[in-house]
Amino acid sequence: MLRKIKAPLERRGVQLLFAFITVLIGIQFIRFVNSYLDPGSVAMISRPAGVEGFLPISALVALTAWLVTGVFDQIHPAGLVLFLLIMGISLVLKRSFCSWVCPIGTLSEGLALLGKKIFGRNFSLPLWLDYILRSLKYVLLGFFVFFIFIGMSGAAAYAFLQTPYNMIADVKMLDFFKNMSAVGVSVIAILVLFSLLVENFWCRYLCPYGALLGLLSIFSPFKISRNTETCISCERCTAVCPNRLKVAKKKTIWSPECTGCLNCVKSCPVDKTLELKSTSLILTPQRAALSILIVWFSVVAIAKLTGNWETSIPPEMYKVLIPMAGQF
Ligand code: SF4
Ligand code: SF4
Repeated sequence: MLRKIKAPLERRGVQLLFAFITVLIGIQFIRFVNSYLDPGSVAMISRPAGVEGFLPISALVALTAWLVTGVFDQIHPAGLVLFLLIMGISLVLKRSFCSWVCPIGTLSEGLALLGKKIFGRNFSLPLWLDYILRSLKYVLLGFFVFFIFIGMSGAAAYAFLQTPYNMIADVKMLDFFKNMSAVGVSVIAILVLFSLLVENFWCRYLCPYGALLGLLSIFSPFKISRNTETCISCERCTAVCPNRLKVAKKKTIWSPECTGCLNCVKSCPVDKTLELKSTSLILTPQRAALSILIVWFSVVAIAKLTGNWETSIPPEMYKVLIPMAGQF
């Protein structure tokens, strides 16, 4: 079966843009932390609020607190804004966050392409094992939802948000990577190896965030739809699907595994035969790219203008907490 992946250029462009932004955020955040660790430092570097996009557990707790108490988190407001934005995108535009925006998804895709160059191909797990492993991410999601959404009262969630641990959860995350233990290095090495061998390994089997977005994406009005009248059954769409969906056999793809990557649409040789569409609108790669970018940057701009982006933690508090990060 033909397996030459044609990813839409628009998607590659959006992925590179977000990967670039992530690198800039990472560099700025390291400079921010270092400025608080260096006693000789005079000017404190500003903190990039976008780093809170990497704190989904804190965002889930903040969502619980917001829903119960009505107080929008001001410790990591950007984290909650991004969490709501990503859930909103998934409700409307399928799991496009995973394949268009998420830097881990981009890295995972890059590793699979590299693995193909090294080993000549990616490997697929047997279907029975694939089914079992795919359920892992839903188990992890269930664990987080149960302990945070159900097991935590609104007051407990609000109290957690004010703890020093949560305040510098981002600094602790950086600490984890800076001072990685042998176990941490081994786990990451294993994940990289599996990502080289098996396409989408992390996203497909382990990411609870992707599991949540997949469940929400079932309600998206947009679905991959195949015109059975014009389809020539060449099976290229099935061959290029990173999520092993049998596109050529279905009229409509309802699966929560579909990330809206549009590889299948791009690879279909017959015009207007395979499309991502709702009852009234077709989402071409250009439209998908524009929609994601406009929605993303508009929401961030609104959050900034309404004072729901920058943390309320004052520099004096960071001066105390950052040097103590290892103690929490
Ligand atoms: S069905 Fe198409 S859009 Fe969905 S994941 Fe597979 S290739 Fe991507
Ligand atoms: S939808 Fe397009 S790519 Fe898929 S089998 Fe039909 S003609 Fe081939």
